[in-house]
Amino acid sequence: MILIKTTLITNLTVADICAGFEFSEAEGKGLFGWSGKLTIQPEYQRNYLYAQNNGEKERAVIDSILKGYPIGLLYLNKPRADEDKYEILDGQQRVTSLGRYIKDLFSVTDSSGHQQYYSSLAQDVQNLILQTPLTIYICEGTETEIKSWFKTINIVGIALNTQETLNSVYSGSFVTLAKAQFSNSRNTKLNIWRSYVKGNVLRQDYLRTAFEWIVKSSDDTKISEYMSRHRNDTNIDELKNYFDGVIDWIKKIFTAPKSEMCGLEWGRLYETYHENKYDAAELDAEIEKLYADEAVTDKRGIFEYVLGGSKDAKLLHIRFFEESTKKTVYARQTEAAKKIGKSNCPLCAIGGGRNSTKIYKYSEMDADHVTAWSKGGATDIKNCQMLCKTHNRAKGNF
Ligand SMILES: [Zn+2]
Repeated sequence: MILIKTTLITNLTVADICAGFEFSEAEGKGLFGWSGKLTIQPEYQRNYLYAQNNGEKERAVIDSILKGYPIGLLYLNKPRADEDKYEILDGQQRVTSLGRYIKDLFSVTDSSGHQQYYSSLAQDVQNLILQTPLTIYICEGTETEIKSWFKTINIVGIALNTQETLNSVYSGSFVTLAKAQFSNSRNTKLNIWRSYVKGNVLRQDYLRTAFEWIVKSSDDTKISEYMSRHRNDTNIDELKNYFDGVIDWIKKIFTAPKSEMCGLEWGRLYETYHENKYDAAELDAEIEKLYADEAVTDKRGIFEYVLGGSKDAKLLHIRFFEESTKKTVYARQTEAAKKIGKSNCPLCAIGGGRNSTKIYKYSEMDADHVTAWSKGGATDIKNCQMLCKTHNRAKGNF
């Protein structure tokens, strides 16, 4: 049972809430408003996302105000009963949009199609924005109660993803430092990371990857344990150094980046292979050869294949024989076998056992590369033979 005291406030305006608004470009978030009394983006909140997609959403907030539409309820938390300080529980994206507009950080298109910054608007239009009343709920409760409730109300908007939720649950010095490194769109290392790690920096995907790598698992429980253990740490050296170590290893081994490298399980690959010695030039030549090979249908598998010494061709999903090829070869083998009274599986036929004269049905056989793909054999009718399933499995190579 959660007990939160709420008070409805309707006498604050856009001007009140945006007074003293500060936006941090470095952190990508709104910092303060309401003359310093309001923390716009507490640590457990997600980054500012409304500037994405060319600012579509932040412009929509201003359009709503200009058209007199409501922008929805804002929920503020008052962490201490005896202190006149507040944090935004829900509405930080909207408040940040308002503050950024008044600070001339973006423009909107007016009814005649012109771009209008706040400072270029007519005085009466500026006043209309500033005097717009906001509907605000102020909530008082313990941190645990508020956070638990915050998780509930956030289902309405852009739902928090798993990592954003974990950040809110384990908010503190460690998460703040980790976000400054891994959730910071101004971090110049992002340009390198993007080649290997897929995702949206503001939605915590890089931070998520850093945690998955250090705990060597994508299991939320393991990540929670790690975040809990380090919650009050004042440095993120272990997390950062491990992540950088993986990235440096990839760069050293694979000197020619390929788009298929993005989003591979680099943490697992690093753990499995980083103690092996590789010649980057040799790997590069091998990779180019595999990229040029039409039989390789999964280019993403190439990297682990070469790390493993070019042995496990399953990773490459080598193109298999066409059904028509298999049927033609089956018919030809079966006809020839029947003529000489031997099995239509060539390996059974020479084996001399009790299956040496057995004629298998098509469904009891599988196609096999006579010369293995790994030894240069092509996936064509000339290199195809049908074997009984037992022999095919026993041969088991590509
Ligand atoms: Zn056989």
